[in-house]
Amino acid sequence: MEFVDLLMNWYPGHHRDLPWRRTRDPYAIWVSEIMLQQTRVAAVIPYYERFMRELPDAAALAAVSDDRLNLLWQGLGYYSRAKNLKRAAEMICSEYGGRMPDRYDTLLKLPGIGSYTAGAIASIAFSERVPAVDGNVLRVYARLFDDPSDIADPAVKTRVFDELKAIMPVDAGTFNQAMMELGATVCVPNGQPLCGECPLKNVCKAKEAGTAGLLPNKRAKKPRTVENRTVFALYDHGAPLLLKRPNRGLLAGLYELPNTSGILSTAEAMQWMTERNLHPIGNLLSYSAKHVFTHIEWHMRVYAADVAGEGTASFIRSDGSRSIPTAFSVCLPEDR
Ligand code: SF4
Repeated sequence: MEFVDLLMNWYPGHHRDLPWRRTRDPYAIWVSEIMLQQTRVAAVIPYYERFMRELPDAAALAAVSDDRLNLLWQGLGYYSRAKNLKRAAEMICSEYGGRMPDRYDTLLKLPGIGSYTAGAIASIAFSERVPAVDGNVLRVYARLFDDPSDIADPAVKTRVFDELKAIMPVDAGTFNQAMMELGATVCVPNGQPLCGECPLKNVCKAKEAGTAGLLPNKRAKKPRTVENRTVFALYDHGAPLLLKRPNRGLLAGLYELPNTSGILSTAEAMQWMTERNLHPIGNLLSYSAKHVFTHIEWHMRVYAADVAGEGTASFIRSDGSRSIPTAFSVCLPEDR
């Protein structure tokens, strides 16, 4: 197809120079792809470089402690990604002799690796002719073929995967990266794409029809659920008091500031602390904070104070080696 040649000729002279593009190491490509899910490229780069320095292969990742891994991930959010990376690394060590599987179908068996990530690793690191279909690729495809289908529909994704598989060139890794790069830098989301700079402008059906700014079609997401919480930012000799969350559910196994559901009044917050033998020293500050997860929003009332009392022994004093997820770090007072 003509667009394939145009895209393949465009990519070498126009792609961004990103650290994970300088390697064909499947482990490095895997780590970068997982980090890039839900996180912007510019934000990922320092995390990726530090992660690769400290955990350069699956064996190192499988052996790292959960606390250290969470600290390396702190700020990227969506910690289940890190958890799945480690679980998959353990599987790579126990079942695949420490080497990343080299086939799309086998990669799909690893925790946290879906069709897109398996396609990216298999095509870029092992040259397997298999597509990597993410939101960027679906958007480019919908516009290129002026296709009004709902790209949130899994059946549409499967169809795009099959159609791209049938036409992709031998150099599948470059083709996949070129599709992603065009979607990220030229055929951009949220409004008008940069058609004037696009290598596909003379073959693009949506450009011809004037529908590029209207595509892709995507079913509206359900609105997020709002949960009210009260969070306590309590300091014992300068260190915030923490608890460890359960190993299942939201922010599983991470450290949290003590908190409870609902919004407590100042009197209720004082009672909450008294019941736990925690006694504020000086002023009890109160302010609000908010954190947005994929499906939930936390609207939080925060009470912050230095505390004393026997109850402090029931908490973990933060010593900097434990990651505090953003949902709680936004509650810590800025002047500490
Ligand atoms: S011409 Fe415009 S709409 Fe078509 S692929 Fe290029 S940037 Fe996207």
